[in-house]
Amino acid sequence: MTVAVPRPTTAALPRVVGSALRVPLVTGELVEYANLDHAASAPCLEQVRDAVDELLPWYASVHRGAGFASQVSTRVYEQARAAVRRFLGARSTDAVVFTRNATDALNLLARSLPRHTAVVLFDTEHHAALLPWRGPHVRRLRTPSSPAAAVPELDRALREAPVGPRLVVVTGASNVTGELWPVAELARVARRHGARIALDAAQLAPHRPVDVRALGVDYAVLSGHKLYAPFGSGALVGRGDWLQAAEPYLVGGGATSRVTDHGDRLGVAWAAVPERHEAGTPNVVGVHALAVACDVLGRHWEQTAAHERALLARLREGLRTVPGVHELALFEGDRDRVGVVSFTVGGQDAGYLAAALSAEHGIGVRDGAFCAHVAVHRLTGDRRALRASLGLGTTEEHVDRLVAALRGLVTEGS
Ligand code: PLP
Repeated sequence: MTVAVPRPTTAALPRVVGSALRVPLVTGELVEYANLDHAASAPCLEQVRDAVDELLPWYASVHRGAGFASQVSTRVYEQARAAVRRFLGARSTDAVVFTRNATDALNLLARSLPRHTAVVLFDTEHHAALLPWRGPHVRRLRTPSSPAAAVPELDRALREAPVGPRLVVVTGASNVTGELWPVAELARVARRHGARIALDAAQLAPHRPVDVRALGVDYAVLSGHKLYAPFGSGALVGRGDWLQAAEPYLVGGGATSRVTDHGDRLGVAWAAVPERHEAGTPNVVGVHALAVACDVLGRHWEQTAAHERALLARLREGLRTVPGVHELALFEGDRDRVGVVSFTVGGQDAGYLAAALSAEHGIGVRDGAFCAHVAVHRLTGDRRALRASLGLGTTEEHVDRLVAALRGLVTEGS
């Protein structure tokens, strides 16, 4: 059966670097690299590369130098905060703290919670969102069979939560299945119970606009390298009060307003947020790259969404034609999702298939449990899976090559 699949539009689609990369096959032949691993790290946008190139001669110490280059760097750094705030539709009062990545941002939030905060989350989260929460009041809920069912589950858990500060943590889009979580509905429930809610937007923000005010979330985290900027930048955006009351978990220069010598001890006054949580020389090039990526993505949602929707439909349709392919899903029914598809293939080993796709076809996919072991092991019955993830660097040819290569490998292995 053939199903009509919408064709992607390439009109004014932001371009990424490395789209013509050629990689060697086991035969020695060179082929164009088919990068189907955007969910791990997306390739850099050309506009980001150009902006970084322009900044490189100018980078200097941020907030610490009087020289012209330091002034330029400081301005670029602070403008990056404004760009991230704009990208997420954050409140003017929200803090924007730059971090190394989303993991760092979630750990910072976890270390900044008031004592005895009750934390509620679902158990299929990425480890970055699953693991940082400590203490007797952490409640992990089993992920239900539909997004709608998550709302009363959360309601029940919050009704049972101890009195005091409360935080709900939820991802925007699963890094395993690409499925979307009902963030606005969960935020409404959280608010009804006086809880705050943190959105792990690492996987959603590269694909869909995220508006923290419209969603009603209190915090959101990002990773630059998933947003078409290089490695080393991320952000925690949200309410400043808990962050301002917390001791920094990374201490050193930049995080202090004054250090005084009292003989047997030092007196330390920590700086205000955001500097309080940005000890050490900041990654001005990285946050500039992140900010430019935010601006570019923010201007191209229509094109990027249409491109991805068409390729995702093509990929899922193609995978259905490969014998033995079983697509993973957290929720029952075919639901809206971003361009991430995980699957198993009959009794075949995912590690072997991923290695063969690379060596024999020049295709990069991910295999394993994708730092979401609970989710993947539950959905596969304790097996490893393959994940193909799409984005601005993906073409129809990449998708078709993956489907044809899998069909070949399955036929060979049967
Ligand atoms: N959250 C989700 C949903 C992710 O997919 C990832 C990375 O895969 C992270 C958080 C962590 O991102 P990073 O490794 O950049 O800190």
